[in-house]
Formats: sequence, structure tokens, C-alpha cells
Amino acid sequence: MDFSTPAPLEAVLAGVRDVMTAFVLPLEALYASRGSMRAIGPELQAARDHVKARKLWCPQLTTELGGMGLPLASHARVSEELGRSMLGHYVFNCQAPDAGNMEILALFATPEQRERYLLPLVAGDVRSCFAMTEPDVAGSNPTWLRTTARADGDDYVIDGHKWFTTGADGAAFAIVMAVTDAGASPHARASQIIVPMDAPGLTRVRNISVMGHEGDGWASHSELRFEGVRVPKANRIGEEGAGFLIAQERLGPGRIHHAMRWIGMCERSFELMCARAASRELSPGKPLAHKQAVQTWIADSRAEIDAARLMVLHAAWKMQREGAYAAREQISIIKFFVADVLQKVVDRAIQTHGALGLTDDTPLAGFYRFERAARIYDGPDEVHKSLVARRILRGYGVESS
Ligand SMILES: Cc1cc2nc3c(=O)[nH]c(=O)nc-3n(C[C@H](O)[C@H](O)[C@H](O)COP(=O)(O)OP(=O)(O)OC[C@H]3O[C@@H](n4cnc5c(N)ncnc54)[C@H](O)[C@@H]3O)c2cc1C
Repeated sequence: MDFSTPAPLEAVLAGVRDVMTAFVLPLEALYASRGSMRAIGPELQAARDHVKARKLWCPQLTTELGGMGLPLASHARVSEELGRSMLGHYVFNCQAPDAGNMEILALFATPEQRERYLLPLVAGDVRSCFAMTEPDVAGSNPTWLRTTARADGDDYVIDGHKWFTTGADGAAFAIVMAVTDAGASPHARASQIIVPMDAPGLTRVRNISVMGHEGDGWASHSELRFEGVRVPKANRIGEEGAGFLIAQERLGPGRIHHAMRWIGMCERSFELMCARAASRELSPGKPLAHKQAVQTWIADSRAEIDAARLMVLHAAWKMQREGAYAAREQISIIKFFVADVLQKVVDRAIQTHGALGLTDDTPLAGFYRFERAARIYDGPDEVHKSLVARRILRGYGVESS
């Protein structure tokens, strides 16, 4: 097993680190002081222009589409670098949910959909969102959706209620998961349909306040109502009833991106924790780093982050070679394992900083606030643990309940 980084990838990572240091990290304080994505819009745009000029734009996409054409395991390494800041993926145009939407449009879009929706997204001229979860039914059982898309001539008429639609505020279009055939088998009931955000009957009810923050623009999660929203059938992605099949395509690579982003956050938190332990004196000449409790946090964190990274890179490697279906157990394992490591490492870093850790003078409180959600979105941890355990127990003759 070779753990070295090939020279071309090392050059890419060095370029990414450069941009992160010169353009992205300085934006964090600006974001904290101005308190909104819109308020730092010009500075974000300047950083994005710079990324494009350096040819580091859309690392996850093929070169044919204007991306960097990195294989999944290499993009995973880039994703770690970008994850050091909440703003990293956005500046490089590989942020969720747009990255997933680009991936499925790249795979399934018709020529018209590609022209009208995919290319502007790739160029960074517009943003998009993905509306699947509904407040009234369990998101962990997505076959239970209530939003319907009723066929009417050449159109669909959509009615439903969604929430936690990330980035809907200011998005140009949503990809909406809606039931197109209630009589079909559970996994063939729904389709994914592109809905322009200004379609009559679509209301963005609010940005949901999450841990005290409504956020704005890309950094927000909206509640949406669809009341008789009419879109052409030509806006459906793929075959009718293929909604879940297509959703699987986005979730596999998406979980690798998220997990490596979390590892980037872990590394940044770890560095802050070590620096604070070394510099904070409890009394003259007695740094916090001399305390065994802090040493244990540092050692445990180092071991857990290293283990997490190896697991994610292994999952990416397997997915690259054998496809998402073959790697589904590894993907589920990294989803809950890395989310847990993230929470522990960020929490220890905050504790090491004392009151300072709760302020927005460091990125730690933001990591904690935004990423408590890591154990819930893209499938709650318990769902993934159950999947892994059931697959293992099948080998012992235990049938699923
Ligand atoms: C920050 C954030 C961003 C999001 N962005 C989007 C987005 O852009 N688009 C979108 O469509 N959705 C989005 N979501 C929604 C997310 O996908 C759902 O919250 C998730 O699927 C869980 O659904 P739920 O909230 O309805 O929880 P429920 O399904 O009600 O589950 C509640 C809890 O029950 C437990 N549970 C569930 N199933 C099992 C099981 N099988 N075994 C044991 N315990 C179980 C888990 O602890 C779970 O947390 C986002 C959520 C968050 C928090």
C-alpha cells in the first residue's frame, strides 16, 4: 500500500492551500462581523474569480464541463483542504447542494436542461437547491413523500410542503422530489423535477432558524410551499419514477465530499486546540498543554482524525473502482464515524479555548453550530448503523426485521 501523494495532486493541493490562505480564511472574520453571505457578496465573488483564474474551479467536475476532472479520491483530498473553512467549498463552486445537482444533471440532463440549468450552475452564475425532506413525514424514510406531481397534458402540477431546503434563498431553481405515481412500488413512486424558484405557486415561506441563526443565501435552509406549481414534463430528470435511483447517484460521492470536508474542519480545530494549549498559561510558565486532560484530548483527536481519513479514502478508492453500490457499506460507515469524530474534536477544541471557544472570534463555534447537523443530514447516523449491522448480521443468518 502506497500512502504517498502523487506529484500532480500535491501541486493541486498546494494551489488550493494558497487560495485558502490568501482569499478564503480572511473572509471568515468579515462574514462573522457583517453577519450575512449577501453582505460579503463582492468579496466572495472576487475570491471565486481568483479560483477560476487559477483553474481550480469545480474540482469535482470533468474537464469537458469546465471542471478539474479529478478522480473521486483526489477530489476527496481537495475537499479536506476546502473544509478548513465553512466558505471553502462555496468559493471553489463545489458546495452542497449545487455539487450534487451538477453531478446528477451532468449524468441525466437532456440537452435543453444542460443548456438552461447545468451550464449556468457550472459557471457559478446561479445557485440551486434540492427539495426532498418534508416536515410532515420522516425524512429518514424518503419513500413516504407526500409532495405530488400530477400529470396534466405536457405539464406536471406540483403540490406539497418541503423544508430544510439548503440554499433555496436566492437559488435560481430547485430539484424537487415528488410522487408521480402513488400506485407504484415504494422506490418507483417519485421523480426529480426541475422547478424554477420564480414559478407561480412556489413560496419560500422562511429561512428556518437553526441554532439561533436564520442565515441567508447559500448558508440557509428554507421552508417551501408548492401550490399548483406548473412546470413542463420536459423538466423531469431521467425517467418517470427514477427519482430514488437518481438520488442514490448523488448520495455516494456526496458522502465522500462531506466526510472529507469534516476532516478538514477536524484538522483546523485540532491545530487551534494545540496552539491554544501551548500558548494559554494557567499560571506563569505553566501552559494548559501540561495538563493530562488536554494531552488526552490531543492524542485521542490525532488518532481519530487519522483513522477517519484512512476510512474515507478507502471508501473513495472502492467507489472509484467498483461503484457506489459495491461501496455502500463503507459509505455508511464513514457517514456516522466521521460525523462523530468531528463532533468530538470540535467540542474538545472549544473546551480547550474556554469562553473564547464559544465566541465567533475563532471558527470553532461556527463549526459546532453548523455541523451538529452532520449526524442528521444525508441520513441520520442510526439509519446508517442499522444498515451496516443488518448486512453484517445477514452473514450470521439474521433476517431483517
Ligand atoms: C442542516 C441540514 C440541511 C439539510 N439540507 C437538506 C436539503 O438540502 N434538502 C433536503 O431535502 N433535506 C435536507 N435536510 C433534511 C435531512 O435530510 C433530514 O433531516 C434527514 O433525512 C432526517 O429526516 P428528519 O429530520 O425528518 O428526521 P426523522 O426521519 O423524523 O428521524 C428523527 C430521528 O429518528 C431516528 N431514526 C430515524 N430512522 C431511524 C432508524 N431506522 N433506526 C433508528 N433510529 C432512527 C434518528 O435519530 C433521527 O435523527 C437537511 C437537514 C439539516 C439538518
